[in-house]
Amino acid sequence: MKKISYNKIINSIRDSIIEINCVPSSELLNKYVSAIENEDNELSKKVLRNLKENAIIAQENMIPICQDTGTAVVFLNIGTEVVIEGGYINEAIFEGVRLGYQEGYLRKSIVGNPISRINTGDNLPPIIHTNILKGDIFNIIILAKGAGSENMSALKMMSPSDGLEGIKNFVVQTVKNAGANPCPPITVGVGIGSNFEGVALLAKRALIKDILDIPVDNSITAIETDIKNKLNSLNIGPQGFGGKTSVFDVAILMEPCHIASLPVAININCHVIRHKKIIF
Ligand code: SF4
Repeated sequence: MKKISYNKIINSIRDSIIEINCVPSSELLNKYVSAIENEDNELSKKVLRNLKENAIIAQENMIPICQDTGTAVVFLNIGTEVVIEGGYINEAIFEGVRLGYQEGYLRKSIVGNPISRINTGDNLPPIIHTNILKGDIFNIIILAKGAGSENMSALKMMSPSDGLEGIKNFVVQTVKNAGANPCPPITVGVGIGSNFEGVALLAKRALIKDILDIPVDNSITAIETDIKNKLNSLNIGPQGFGGKTSVFDVAILMEPCHIASLPVAININCHVIRHKKIIF
């Protein structure tokens, strides 16, 4: 049995919230560098240099990379042989998120009621997705998800006869409609299969595919590459100023679905990629 203290979870989540908001990952900085090298258009290069410089200034001063410090989305993966000592796991997550936004001086962006729209004042509640596993596995993946990109996401219950070409067209049309709104270069998470609620979650998980330890499937990689090429030929470009880098990555996750259904969801993330896996 693996024992984890309640306070350790709180502290790890608090520190991770501050880190993902203020410290760009080396992967993100490398994406900026590759995109700068790849662009021909001087304006697009300049925009990308500004994005990279902004991220480095954020790290040096421990200030947020973007003013929209996001909704905290938490993927909790917990084994049956894990015991949390000293408290309840969901309360630890809430407290870690609360402290992260408070102590990191991060913007509180959550309203308690979508109609009356009073800010909760502490960025609570986070959105928690729990996965119960066998054994003593225990990890938490945390995202700070901005609204500008989230708002451009889409879900469609397609007809099975729409097939792969229909899916690709839906992705291209969604990104084209989004234009500069999701703060490109974007990451496009695509969920295919499951059902109505399941496919939305698949698309969200696709955004963190790089840290999910999913074996490479060459047939899916080929579809991702094809869609990415199509999206990068739309000339949206960094922050909508045109150019070859509208999209950093396209990531697809698939699950089985009903014979009469073809659910497809597209979840978009902006150029500020903010996620981290905490392994206990
Ligand atoms: S979409 Fe991303 S870059 Fe744009 S405002 Fe929101 S968090 Fe910031």
